[in-house]
Amino acid sequence: EAKGQGRNRAASFNWSLKERFNRVHEIETGLRRALDGGELKLLFQPIVDLESGRIDACEALLRWDHPVLGPIPPSEFIPIAEGMGMIEAMTGWVLREACAAAASWPGDVRIAINISPASLKSNELPANVIAALLESGLSARQLELEVTESIFLDDSGQTNAVLRELQRIGLRLALDDFGTGYSSLSYLRSYRFDTLKIDQSFMAGVSANAEDRAIVRAIGNLARDLAMDTVAEGIETQDQLAHAREAGFTNVQGYLFSRPVPRDRIADLIAAGPLEGAERPEPMRPSR
Ligand code: C2E
Ligand code: MG
Ligand code: MG
Ligand code: MG
Repeated sequence: EAKGQGRNRAASFNWSLKERFNRVHEIETGLRRALDGGELKLLFQPIVDLESGRIDACEALLRWDHPVLGPIPPSEFIPIAEGMGMIEAMTGWVLREACAAAASWPGDVRIAINISPASLKSNELPANVIAALLESGLSARQLELEVTESIFLDDSGQTNAVLRELQRIGLRLALDDFGTGYSSLSYLRSYRFDTLKIDQSFMAGVSANAEDRAIVRAIGNLARDLAMDTVAEGIETQDQLAHAREAGFTNVQGYLFSRPVPRDRIADLIAAGPLEGAERPEPMRPSR
């Protein structure tokens, strides 16, 4: 019986490899068309100030609805775009779209954009950033680029040069998914990151695990002492919100406040003012 199971598993493995190959191929051909053909969309998710309830920033999140395959998550198509050498064109598009949206928002709400490691190795990135700022009229301080720890695996010096150039232009830098990657605290010394975003997996665990609570508190203390803003991502429950507050995080982001929403909807959310409950001692309630 064990043998039969093994054979079945092997057969389904081969099948899924073939399927996967076909899917990757379809995504590759589709991506070239998608970028020019308007199939890519940006959604925006609020990043909320924990004290005032105001929207400090919004994160731009890429969406692709494939005409045949349906919605494809960015975690699947972005690595493929990187492999095809298309990521810089895609990043350029995201930068222009997101900065144009942010320039229309009231106040000085920032826009946060995810930058993949491959983009940081390209010297096209600073030029794309400058073009997006000039076209939109957005100020550099309103643009924050989110990078992950994995960028530091590249020791060619190119990533370092691009990061310095972006800081020289006046952009803000955020370290995303902090605590899961190739974590080394020395990055926090070498670069002045403006914002630290703790990985969602820690917030997901705070209600059940003392270990996750300890890590969240430690990161909150560290970031405060280094004068960095701190974002607790993936906040879905009041309990998680309470832990983020207790750990001294400055900002929160998650479905409890809002899912990623289209450009029109985010403008309404920003215009509506502080999310409810901000002035109260009790935790904030989700906005609808
Ligand atoms: P990320 O930058 O860490 O983005 C946060 C992810 O968490 C997003 O997933 C967001 O939709 C999701 N999220 C937000 N609040 C909650 C919550 O309360 N609960 C849960 N379970 N999830 C929540 P998404 O949009 O699927 O993006 C996944 C990743 O893809 C992003 O992780 C980012 O690394 C990458 N990505 C997205 N857009 C872009 C882009 O324009 N360029 C690049 N290079 N990467 C992107
Ligand atoms: Mg603030
Ligand atoms: Mg991000
Ligand atoms: Mg993240």
